[in-house]
Amino acid sequence: MIYFDNNDTTQLHPDILEKMIPFFTEKFGNPASLHNLGLEAESAIDEARLQISGAIGAKPKELIFTSGATESNNLAILGAARARPNKKHLIISSVEHASVLNAAKRLEKDGYRITRLPVDGQGFVNPDSLRDAIDEDAFLVSILIANHEIGVIQDVKTLAEIAHSKGAWFHTDAAQALGKMPFNVEDLGIDLASFNAHKLHGPKGIGAMFVRRKNRPKRLMEGAPQEFDLRPGTENVPAIVGFGLAVEIAVRDLNEVESHIRPLQEKLAQGLAEIDNSMLNGPPPDERLLGNLNITFLYIEGEAILMHLAHRGIGVSSGSACSSKSLVPSEVLTAIGLIHEEAHGAIRFSLSRYNTEAEVDTVIESVKVVVDLLRSMTAFIPEVHSEKKGGTSFYRKR
Ligand SMILES: *Cc1c(COP(=O)(O)O)cnc(C)c1O
Repeated sequence: MIYFDNNDTTQLHPDILEKMIPFFTEKFGNPASLHNLGLEAESAIDEARLQISGAIGAKPKELIFTSGATESNNLAILGAARARPNKKHLIISSVEHASVLNAAKRLEKDGYRITRLPVDGQGFVNPDSLRDAIDEDAFLVSILIANHEIGVIQDVKTLAEIAHSKGAWFHTDAAQALGKMPFNVEDLGIDLASFNAHKLHGPKGIGAMFVRRKNRPKRLMEGAPQEFDLRPGTENVPAIVGFGLAVEIAVRDLNEVESHIRPLQEKLAQGLAEIDNSMLNGPPPDERLLGNLNITFLYIEGEAILMHLAHRGIGVSSGSACSSKSLVPSEVLTAIGLIHEEAHGAIRFSLSRYNTEAEVDTVIESVKVVVDLLRSMTAFIPEVHSEKKGGTSFYRKR
């Protein structure tokens, strides 16, 4: 199988599996216990907390473990709302992950005012739109630093400064950024950030949240005082150990991995740009999230392309991975101005350190064959769409 779906999840790095195994077997202690097994588990968690906090420029006490980026996003948004009950305005972008979009919808139902900042044709938030929206009533601004669908990377440092100018806290969902680009909470000046392990060759079901000490959300669950009283429940020790090593490896190998992936990403984009009536969603390859491409093949369904590629042993996703089982077009793709049919023809390709140039060649050839086949079965190729988007230009304007 050729796996080009690494923004969805990634293959576990073998060293990580090896490091986790003893924590399923002989090192099974509960970190809250005071005997040797407990202390061993506790010090394993401490080591992982140091590895991850060190990698993002935070103090160990500013990092708490959760079940993943979904939980961290919910804790940041709903927990910040609880911590600052006098403020009733939340600002997000219109290209967030479902866990942020839907946490915002929850607050909206509870009477909060939500501002969803628009984005340009490549997915960028204009800082001026935040300057216009921000007010003293805003308790939090939450903007995704690196987009899982279209690879756009936002100017979080500037956006955080604007949020702070009116006293709002700033949160970013960094699930795609961690280990794929430099990420330092001090340089960015942010208060809260969400992470997970399974996007960087670590295990699933484990994540973390950076919490600046003065700006603490309120916990959402009641229980014992684990994770500095922010997230009760016995810690998932093997997964935490794996997460720590995943971050250490990703940061250690970042330059090397980037010089492997970036040329493959460029080659894949160039190869697919040769297909008529294809267009790249999001910024140009060299300006976007490492390994990510999102391409619309006009006049055919993304789902049909996905199935034909799957049949040939190639794994990609259509629209957003999370909505690929439903027919609702991705909110991210409609936010950058794609009409329904264009969003439905979108395929996301996402590469990792384990992909090769030979795989890129195979995927380019297979996509060409599949697109030709599907278009030969399409009854109509309406001119109106290509005129609307300025002919067959591969790159979208900002
Ligand atoms: C994958 C992802 C999430 C969800 O993470 P889980 O750990 O699977 O809950 C959130 N945000 C972004 C940007 C993601 O890519």
